[in-house]
Amino acid sequence: MNQRSVLIIYTGGTIGMVADPRSGALHPMDLSHLEEQVPELDRMKVRLGAVSFDQPIDSSDMRPADWVRIARIIGEHYDAYDGFVVLHGSDTMAYTASALSFLLEGLNKPVVLTGSQLPIGTIRTDAKENLITAIEVAAACDQHGRAVVPEVAVYFEYSLYRGNRTVKVHAERFEAFRSPNHPRLAEAGVHLKYDLAAILTHRTTGLKVHDRMDDNVGVLRLFPGIRAEWVRHALATPGLRAVVLTTFGSGNGPTDSGFIEALRTARERGITVVNVTQCFGGRVEQGRYVTSQAFVELGVLSGGDMTVEAAVAKLMFLLGEGLDGPALARAFGTSLCGEVSG
Ligand code: ASP
Repeated sequence: MNQRSVLIIYTGGTIGMVADPRSGALHPMDLSHLEEQVPELDRMKVRLGAVSFDQPIDSSDMRPADWVRIARIIGEHYDAYDGFVVLHGSDTMAYTASALSFLLEGLNKPVVLTGSQLPIGTIRTDAKENLITAIEVAAACDQHGRAVVPEVAVYFEYSLYRGNRTVKVHAERFEAFRSPNHPRLAEAGVHLKYDLAAILTHRTTGLKVHDRMDDNVGVLRLFPGIRAEWVRHALATPGLRAVVLTTFGSGNGPTDSGFIEALRTARERGITVVNVTQCFGGRVEQGRYVTSQAFVELGVLSGGDMTVEAAVAKLMFLLGEGLDGPALARAFGTSLCGEVSG
């Protein structure tokens, strides 16, 4: 079998930081120094290529245009590599992974996002293991030479997850991610054990890279005592097209008439409202309690067991594709690439 090849795309984040020898301050390293930092790369039986953002960024500065930029890089190099590793800050990695899963329609090769909690140059760093195993996953193939993981995934601290199911759960622990509503795609121990039943099947349509995201989307987190006036102002934001309402339990909210009226006005103005639970796991079931009946009446869309990250990226993607009204509602309720359970 031919040697496998992986393209590393460096966008920024802690993983690529090195300390200035004089001041000790962290700054992004030049990607050409990667093999100096991780000499083990030389011993991997994978042909590596690398591209970098001109200005690597902290992932808190990632914007939808940057997601499109990463998708385009993958599209441009798609035929030349067997898999892709995106080095990215962990803070907003779950959003980028979700967005890429929608932008890369028909993806049939691995796109593995990884990063680290400690910079690659520090002694106790988690970056080396994350990088080396992410490359291994991106290069992995079956006996027919087909990718084992033909989807967008996140690899962090011995676990591989479906990208659009991940949530960052810890600011300090090496085990920083979880996928509450979908099993891990693989676990790295002595062996790299894949759960093939949890991984998307191969797609045969060919890759189509989408390049539009509409960021006129908001997130409104409910809390006991939330004031209707506040909700009204948020929903009156000029240009707003869709809102992710993060609700209590199985999709519940206050029955207070001021709150319901604020939602009704937004719906009458054509704003799409989707319901995603604040709970870490489980799903929205609108209408199960009286406290979610108004959502059904107002045509609020259930997010099922989607994460907030996936819901935000999916709305930006669908709006960017020009969808609206019933077509948007249908597409939002359909699993496009495993982001929601049926
Ligand atoms: N603030 C950093 C970032 O998200 C943290 C990290 O890389 O993990 O870019």
